Amino acid sequence: MNTKSKLLTGNEAIARGAWEAGVTVAAAYPGTPSTEILESLSTYDQVYAQWSVNEKVALEIASGASMEGARTLVAMKHVGLNVAADPFMTLAYTGVGGGLVIVTADDPAMHSSQNEQDNRYYALMAKVPLLEPSDSQEAKQYVIEAFRLSEKYDTPVLLRTTTRVSHSKSEVELLPRLDRIKPEYAKDSSKYVMIPGYGRPRRTNLINRWNRLAAHAENSPLHYIYRPACSQAPEVGMVTSGISYQYAREVFTGIDILKLGITCPLPQKLIQGFARGKKLLLVAEELEPFLEDQIKALGLGVEVAGKQYFPQQGELSLAIMKEAYTQLFGSRGQSPFSPAPQEVPSRPPVLCAGCSHRPVFYVLHKLKVRVMGDIGCYSLAVLPPLNAMDSLLCMGAGVGQALGMEKANPDIKGKVVSVIGDSTFFHSGITSLVDSVYNQGTGVIIILDNRTTAMTGHQANPGMGSTLQKEQVPVVLPEKIAEAAGVKNIQVVDPYQLEQLEKVIKKELARDELSVIVCRQECVLLKKEGIQERFFIDQAVCRDCGVCLKFGCPAIQVRKGKYLIDGIMCTSCGVCPSLCKFGAIKREGR
Ligand code: SF4
Ligand code: SF4
Repeated sequence: MNTKSKLLTGNEAIARGAWEAGVTVAAAYPGTPSTEILESLSTYDQVYAQWSVNEKVALEIASGASMEGARTLVAMKHVGLNVAADPFMTLAYTGVGGGLVIVTADDPAMHSSQNEQDNRYYALMAKVPLLEPSDSQEAKQYVIEAFRLSEKYDTPVLLRTTTRVSHSKSEVELLPRLDRIKPEYAKDSSKYVMIPGYGRPRRTNLINRWNRLAAHAENSPLHYIYRPACSQAPEVGMVTSGISYQYAREVFTGIDILKLGITCPLPQKLIQGFARGKKLLLVAEELEPFLEDQIKALGLGVEVAGKQYFPQQGELSLAIMKEAYTQLFGSRGQSPFSPAPQEVPSRPPVLCAGCSHRPVFYVLHKLKVRVMGDIGCYSLAVLPPLNAMDSLLCMGAGVGQALGMEKANPDIKGKVVSVIGDSTFFHSGITSLVDSVYNQGTGVIIILDNRTTAMTGHQANPGMGSTLQKEQVPVVLPEKIAEAAGVKNIQVVDPYQLEQLEKVIKKELARDELSVIVCRQECVLLKKEGIQERFFIDQAVCRDCGVCLKFGCPAIQVRKGKYLIDGIMCTSCGVCPSLCKFGAIKREGR
């Protein structure tokens, strides 16, 4: 590898591309698989990068910076675009000042998400161009091209990655940063103020722009046709994009492949030309038949197939490609690829030993209340042995769901709580808290404040007193927000104090008014003081009842019928002695 190239993940390559393109402002809310884009971009000079409280705000910040002439990048996971959909759809009308690129990182197979949506349809609905890179080099190159397109056509541009592109590493050529002069701000109300009188002509403008983008897409250098030296089946052609192309190239080695770089608007004439002389076009894509349906609608006079060979859920894989290959060409030659057996043992996810969320869910389970949950590490509390979550819909939804439940059935008073993390509270819990105050909810809202955005890798949030770029800033406390919203009953507790925690939850559940309980304890993975005390189970006292296992701490184990604490895993949170009514769980030296 020469000195001007580097191995980068797709996310790091996107950050590099943004820097090379001259981006000066970037915003995001962390979410797998997109998180590392902003983390990486924040380390470059000449870039202001921030975590926003949610994706909608991130896009609004980008919009303002773009009006000011800056090149601006916004990154989010696929469901984040749902949150940002409101400004996104109208941004397509107003267009941009400086180039504005939105990265949507889709998550086929739901590795770390609550659904498996295919965000290419957002591009189609908004009439916004969509680029799909298939490796890190393309990720970088496509970002730069996306900024060029954004400014040339006065439009936001979507860059869609999927998990494998976001997280896989490949070689990327490094180039210098573009020496770009930011244009002066020019007031233009008819472009940026979308009252109906100005919005209608912008709609006409949007449609005209779409037609020009379609013509551009036909001749884009981002498309590529792979033709094998020796064709195995000249009557078959494959159309693909993104990571699907990489799988296709490894398995369908003897087939013509049209790899699309811009998939929205679809380059119809290019596809028509590629289909000429073929009998079958095979469309390989993850999730929805986005390309397949549009290609079928072209009426090419050839058979078009896709989802009959490739699944509509989950990620594609070499094994799936091989299966499709065998179905099509079983007796006509062999693909050189043979999938390796997968022998990775499955491990159920579990809250860490000493996690401060565990005592809260242990108590809620014990009290047999309904728990309207939210997105965060604590969603694992739905699993045994805690089994303590009744819902998980989307960021911030639990608080509203609890209020809705209470309004539908006044008899559940005192039997329902909503649980939300600190970062999720800042993301979209504040508005539902205000709604609960306004509409006289009487439930209990528990805010799990572990002083970080733990699930995505410990990113900063407004409650931490520091920014993405490590500046010290004032701490925003959820209890102060609750107080300002008019909540009268606010408690701040240490969730490691199990008995006190249970007492407080019971007391607040008994009220006829809304309560907020902030359970504050730093995420165990961030604790710097290390192991303070050793805990063990005294075998002479233990009755082998197994009650302590119901707490779900992975450090409490049963081996050869004996209950014990694994000293390597134990983080000395100190909660478990109060679980054993026989006093068998002890601190060392006592
Ligand atoms: S709860 Fe106490 S007695 Fe029961 S298994 Fe655990 S340590 Fe032993
Ligand atoms: S003190 Fe007990 S509950 Fe806490 S981590 Fe150790 S074994 Fe688990």
